Amino acid sequence: MNPVALITGGSRGIGRGIALALAQLGQDLVINYASNATAAEPTANDCAAAATAGGKKIRAEVCQADISQSADRQRLIEFTRSTFGRLDLLVNNAGVAPETRADILEASEASFDRLIAINVKGPYFLTQLASKWMIAQCEEADSTASTNPPPHVSGYSPKIVTISSVSAYAASTNRGDYCVSKAALSMLTPLFAARLAEHGINVYEIRPGIIATDMTGAVKEKYDQLIADGLTPIQRWGTPEDIGRAVAAIASDAFPFSTGEVINVDGGFHLRRL
Ligand code: NAP
Repeated sequence: MNPVALITGGSRGIGRGIALALAQLGQDLVINYASNATAAEPTANDCAAAATAGGKKIRAEVCQADISQSADRQRLIEFTRSTFGRLDLLVNNAGVAPETRADILEASEASFDRLIAINVKGPYFLTQLASKWMIAQCEEADSTASTNPPPHVSGYSPKIVTISSVSAYAASTNRGDYCVSKAALSMLTPLFAARLAEHGINVYEIRPGIIATDMTGAVKEKYDQLIADGLTPIQRWGTPEDIGRAVAAIASDAFPFSTGEVINVDGGFHLRRL
């Protein structure tokens, strides 16, 4: 039986890069999206094809759900349960930028509320739901294991990964709502890491830098120039594949004695230089 990964916002951009990397590892996938089914279906097909090309066989299913909505989060978990019967990896990737960038002296409450609902409340309570199910699966695995001490009995080694942003600490005064939402999101990992360690569930944050996706399409020229001017020590755009490779390393159990860890995948953007 393949491990099962649920990727929020797995249909496009960074989430698609993560889905493809996990497919190559041989993980079955639930690819969540909000409204754009025309992107989700081809991603699922591409994931199955990528696995096959590497000699693996996986199932990739799509599930529409708005993670800011409680009933949708419940439905997403129920879909995963009824389709695959297990969950090994939750990737909290879905997130949005403000519809318009506005100076913090003018930006609206409506935009702030939207970003907090999707970027913070959604992953926080989805992680709560997934954690309870993972704990139940751990207990089931423990009770069926005769000799191996927990955790990691019966090959069940669940994990949670959250995709935050360099905006968790870098101030952009024309999208303060996004920065505040990512700073709040960054507290999710230490909280759940501390709570879930006793159950053998490791929790990680990946902090991407500037990644080429639809989200950054509108500011491409600006970032082209900043990168050319030396904004990042590694002088190129990041790609969804860069993030996918980091998630695949976590999914492959590369960090069994690390939890609550932040992994910067940002071309060195976070380094202070003199
Ligand atoms: P993107 O290309 O705009 O894709 C966003 C994905 O999230 C899509 O699959 C979208 O589904 C889904 N989504 C949006 N709102 C949702 C909701 N309410 N419920 C469920 N799914 C929802 O974005 P991206 O650049 O890949 O960003 C992915 C994550 O990385 C975000 O959390 C973002 O903040 C973070 N990030 C991005 C960058 C960057 O430079 N791109 C840098 C740092 C961090 P639909 O297709 O249905 O709309």
